[in-house]
Amino acid sequence: MKENQDKKISDSQQTRPPIVVVMGHVDHGKTTLLDYIRKTNVAAKEAGGITQSIGAYEITHPSVSSGQAQKITFIDTPGHEVFSKMRERGAKVADLAILVVAADDGVKPQTKESIDILNSTKTPFVVAINKIDKPNTDIEKTKNDLMANGVLLEGYGGNISWQAISAKMGQGVNELLDLILLAAEMENLTYNPKAKASGIIIEAKTTPQKGVVISAIVKNGALKIGDFILTPTVAGKIKVLENFMGNRVEKIIPSSPVLISGFNNLPQIGEEFTSSDIDLTNSISPKTEIKEQKQPIDRALSLNLIIKADVAGSLEALSGIIRNLKYKNANFNILSESVGEITDGDIKEAAPANAVIIGFKTKINKIAESLAKIQNVKIIVSEIVYELIEAIENEIKLKEKPLPLGEIEILKIFNQKEKKQLIGGRVIFGAIKNNIRLKIIRNNGEIGTGKILKLKHQKTEINEAKEGEERGLMFESDIAINEGDRLIWNK
Ligand code: GDP
Repeated sequence: MKENQDKKISDSQQTRPPIVVVMGHVDHGKTTLLDYIRKTNVAAKEAGGITQSIGAYEITHPSVSSGQAQKITFIDTPGHEVFSKMRERGAKVADLAILVVAADDGVKPQTKESIDILNSTKTPFVVAINKIDKPNTDIEKTKNDLMANGVLLEGYGGNISWQAISAKMGQGVNELLDLILLAAEMENLTYNPKAKASGIIIEAKTTPQKGVVISAIVKNGALKIGDFILTPTVAGKIKVLENFMGNRVEKIIPSSPVLISGFNNLPQIGEEFTSSDIDLTNSISPKTEIKEQKQPIDRALSLNLIIKADVAGSLEALSGIIRNLKYKNANFNILSESVGEITDGDIKEAAPANAVIIGFKTKINKIAESLAKIQNVKIIVSEIVYELIEAIENEIKLKEKPLPLGEIEILKIFNQKEKKQLIGGRVIFGAIKNNIRLKIIRNNGEIGTGKILKLKHQKTEINEAKEGEERGLMFESDIAINEGDRLIWNK
């Protein structure tokens, strides 16, 4: 009986095309390869509607084993542009990756970074050794470089397929696509057509004509017009579905890229979405997206921000993302947002409000720079959205945890008689003093407090112990201190 049921479940699974991401060092030819594949494999007349990338595209390529045309979805994020941090998330979205390594340059820092990401996310990949049309290439050296970095290539004792290509001239690209389909067959990628649709947001923007438009890739189920969909930060009802060529469709199945209109707010890139028959718009409570609730914080955190960007489009995108940022119960208050370089006017606005200035693809003028130093205003500038988001998150975290005055790690318990305990430890931050009350931290959680009755250096009583010093304490607390506990002195 059980077996039958299992069979049924597996019968309901259907094969889906692979979702592929291209990774590698800057300038090694990722964009050129993605452009070449799109140009040569998306039929020109069908592609008429594509005026800009939606973050992914779909091609067909004949399978070597069956001869039949198979689909492949490529994630098309511009590697080192706005969402270069998507490389990491891209690996999570993707079933397979192409690691591009230029044969005239070999393994470089971002090649290594890519290899680490692929290994840690267990994403299978094939290697494209690129730019072989150039005269100064050394394919053998590139292969040796790869082997030395743990990429065990086929024909050299490993099982990672590789193909020498010229992304510019197209040489070897068909063979590379063959390898992708072979790798996909090994992965046995399936989906359940009866399941609720789910997938991943790959781009989100606001356009004057359509409002919030989301690019996503469906990974399971089928997405239909009228479905309600939900991400950890936003909810909406699908009004318009378009395929990657800009054609309106009723339904999208895995692993196709899709444009969705029908949201009021921008979700965050890399978020998962799920569909539902019921309206979930009101279920977006702050609770849904709070990841770290372990340490309750006493007061509401807030961070004032002033946003500057090079053009209106990026300003809108960035402010949309910031408005949707969720970190515990923190408030991110955007005091103002404008286009242009950062000026002394911005500093004057920021200083009294203790605001941080966020600049996206913009510069700081000289006067503003000096004024910011004098008035102690923090400015964070980057060309990469995710760097800015990370920096904003770091700012709020700094506010959350005021640095302690001192912290001591307990290394030894000498004697514990009721509440009075003779213990020894090393001051790992700041200093501690006689007669102060300390918080007791065990496994990152606060478990109580206690007071220093005596502070000792060998037999001598002292008043203070500084960072790096190992001292003895007569400590009074209801809690029996353990080795490894940390005692923290806060103001
Ligand atoms: P990305 O930073 O990895 O996206 O690299 P790009 O695709 O922007 O390529 C960087 C440079 O290398 C560009 O000038 C490309 O024209 C060039 N390039 C990329 N692939 C090839 C290739 O196969 N042969 C040659 N000769 N140049 C290439």
